[in-house]
This record gives sequence, structure tokens and C-alpha cells, in this order.
Amino acid sequence: MALNLLMLGPPGAGKGTQSERFARSRGIPKISTGDILREAVHAGTDIGRRAKVVMGRGELVGDDVMIGIVRERLEKTDAMGGFVLDGFPRTVAQAEALDDIMSTRDPLIVVDIVVPEAELVRRLGTRLICDTCGAGAPVGASSAAVTAVCVRCGGRLVQRADDNQAVVLERLKVYHRMSEPLVEYYRVRPTFRSIDGAQLPDRVAADLAAAIEAAGHGAVRHGVQR
Ligand code: ADP
Repeated sequence: MALNLLMLGPPGAGKGTQSERFARSRGIPKISTGDILREAVHAGTDIGRRAKVVMGRGELVGDDVMIGIVRERLEKTDAMGGFVLDGFPRTVAQAEALDDIMSTRDPLIVVDIVVPEAELVRRLGTRLICDTCGAGAPVGASSAAVTAVCVRCGGRLVQRADDNQAVVLERLKVYHRMSEPLVEYYRVRPTFRSIDGAQLPDRVAADLAAAIEAAGHGAVRHGVQR
């Protein structure tokens, strides 16, 4: 059975960090719509130019564009043996489209990372990413320990354009309005689990692995098959 994992959670919950780590450990691709859009912005494509404005305001890129991007990405051969999806779906319409895309594939395992709001604001205000490759600086590193150089490629560490305070508050508002309903959308499924994201990254990773294992059993027990 392919491991088709979907990570839910507000901005700053650690979805990107945990997705990356988990995907690498299982040898499956991590598909992050935020990364795909940032690459498009960097490359100056048509979608990138339009997305830049929307992302800069902390709003969401349109469902049609996002669904098209994800549909195309999930059809690539490397995603057939499983994937980790980070940042999509963000609206119920996207979730319905994803169910349609997945209708002939193994079930989605859905993990929601829960983190208190105050902690999210603190994390988003202090996190740094690499200017060149987009990698995040180690979570939990004190600012004094951050070397301002990316450990992966040696690039410069900077604040993400949409991590300034006004945009962060807007992104959290948009999350509550548009994306939090997804938790209710998925909660009824036997393959849904939620984990505590307000712990050290290693603990979150351990809880994530356990939740995925349990959700996989949930799928088998309920005969969830597509
Ligand atoms: P976050 O840290 O907020 O989870 P991401 O890197 O996932 O950030 O996304 C950054 C921005 O890209 C979002 O604020 C939004 O503007 C846009 N974006 C990413 N994924 C989607 C999506 N599925 N639907 C609409 N907009 C998206």
C-alpha cells in the first residue's frame, strides 16, 4: 500500500520541517505547494508573478490554479509509490478536488499538527529560511546559534517575505477561516490523527511516525480501499 500522507496544521506548526524529514526517511517525495509557488515566483513564471502579490498579502492563491498544480504533480511517477503533501488542501474545495484525484489510489492518511496560537506567532516571527534553496534554519536553535548560513547549501538565511508580523496575523486569520474547517472534513475518517506540535522536533517526529502507523491500521481495519 502506498503511503499517501497529508499534513494539516496552521502556518508555523512545523508541517514543512516534519514533512521533509518524514519523506526523506521513507524515500517518498515531499510535495509542498508553498515551495512550488516560491519556486514559480523565483523563476518569474506567469503563475509566479500573480502568486507573489497574493502571498505577500497573506491570502490564498485561487483554488483552480492550486488544484491544477497539485493534480499535475501527483500524476508524476515518483508520487505513485506515496508522497507527503504539505500546504494542500487549504480549502474545502481543494479537499474535494483531492478526493477526486485520489479516487483510484490508496487512501490518504491525514495528520493534523496542533500548536497554540501564541507559539505560532512567536515561531513565525523568528524563523529564517535560506535565500537560495528555501531550506529552514534548524527549529529550536536560539538566534545566537543561527549562523546566518544555510547548512544545506551555504546560502544566506533571511526572514521569509510573508513572515513579517502584519502578514503573519493575516495568514493565521485566513487559516482559521478557510483551512481549519478541513480538520472537521477529515476528522470523521479512520485514517485521521492529530498530534501535539508544541514539542521538540524529535518528539513531534516520533509522534508523527506513531500516528501514521496507527492511521494505517485504521485504514486496514475499516477496509478503506480505493
Ligand atoms: P505556511 O507557512 O503559511 O504554511 P506555505 O509555505 O505553505 O506557508 O504557503 C505560503 C503561501 O503560499 C500561503 O500563505 C498562500 O498564499 C500560498 N499557498 C500555498 N499553498 C496554497 C494552497 N493550497 N492554496 C492557496 N494558496 C496557497
